[in-house]
Amino acid sequence: MLVIMKNVMNDLYARDTSNKIKAVKQSTFKSGKYVGCYAPLGYRKSSADKHILEIDPITSPVVKHIFDMRLQGNGFRKIAVQLNAEGVPAPRTFYYMAEGRENPRNETPYWNDVTVKTILRNEVYIGHTVQNKTGTVSYKNHKQVDKPKDEWIKVENTHEPIISQDIWEAVQRMDNHPGRGRTGKSGMIALFGGLLRCMDCGSSLRYMRDYRKTTSGKEPEFKSYVCNRYAIGGKDACSSHYINQKALVAVVLADIRSKAILAQGNREALKEQILVRKRNASAERTSLLKTELTALEKRLAELEKLVQSAYEDKVIGRIPEGVCINLLNKYEAERAEKLEHKKEISTKLAASEENEKSVDDWLDLIQDYAQLEELDRATLVRIIQKIEIGEKREVDGHVERDINIYYNFVGFVEL
Ligand SMILES: [Zn+2]
Repeated sequence: MLVIMKNVMNDLYARDTSNKIKAVKQSTFKSGKYVGCYAPLGYRKSSADKHILEIDPITSPVVKHIFDMRLQGNGFRKIAVQLNAEGVPAPRTFYYMAEGRENPRNETPYWNDVTVKTILRNEVYIGHTVQNKTGTVSYKNHKQVDKPKDEWIKVENTHEPIISQDIWEAVQRMDNHPGRGRTGKSGMIALFGGLLRCMDCGSSLRYMRDYRKTTSGKEPEFKSYVCNRYAIGGKDACSSHYINQKALVAVVLADIRSKAILAQGNREALKEQILVRKRNASAERTSLLKTELTALEKRLAELEKLVQSAYEDKVIGRIPEGVCINLLNKYEAERAEKLEHKKEISTKLAASEENEKSVDDWLDLIQDYAQLEELDRATLVRIIQKIEIGEKREVDGHVERDINIYYNFVGFVEL
């Protein structure tokens, strides 16, 4: 009997201590202090305060390199293979090298797809501290498990970022479309792969290359794209929308450069112009939302008064308790519904007010490209969201076609 009691007591004590440690840990997480054993690759713990991360000049280029390879369209595994080929030590190995000692654990010094993926999804690289991602099963079982995302504790802007916001977003967008831009069995990515849309049927454009021109080992000149629906279904499905890559590069380069020059030389005017267009497009929507919001707020205020008078009526005996409770339940149900609706509308309104910030983000990005001479995949994915390709048509004896370029952050910029 006594033994059992003692066990129970010990158990209670262990549980209590474990809960206390957890509480201390959680409050440290919430302060944004870094508490991990190792600094993430690319960072080191500040010598002044080990809870603060600072950029490690030795390992941060590896992080940039990984994000860059991803932007070029490489898969996680391919990036790992490349890092191993370059002889880059895996993160943990780096850590022990810096410490000047052998890794006591018997871990592989090589990269794999999981280590690469973890880095590409870690918000630490844009300056945020996200902790509480893993935990133990219980105070008895110390096995580490991944925690659900809603239990993670994130504190923004706790240290200097290694990766810029636009690169981060471009890389996360690629996660949403894993196959984006992949061409053929080789897994090679076409320059515009996944970025082109047929203006008439909305399907993507397919990359084609003409091998007849690969003389003297040079790159084939005849890289082109056609409507995918046409490629599959022929003339009945759509028309070819054939476009030569070289021609398209020239159009896109010219567009990027001209907008960069405008952004540099006349930023405010350009910004205003884009905002006016955006506002006109969303003005009607916004005013509808605002009307709806005002009506909701009015009703919510009424409900509050109704609740109050229901209480008063009950207190002075004007209505029986049962009726009062019924009324209160009814009001509360309506109030909850209206509050939920209000939240939705506020989110929508906030999204349309985000415009100004996104235009600024775009101007910051585009202005660096006034002298852009060559288009590579990384630059394209960074700047451009998609390009719509119209079919060629004859106008007054010459050929015309529409090409609409949609930029990241702002979409189609019509000037
Ligand atoms: Zn089409």
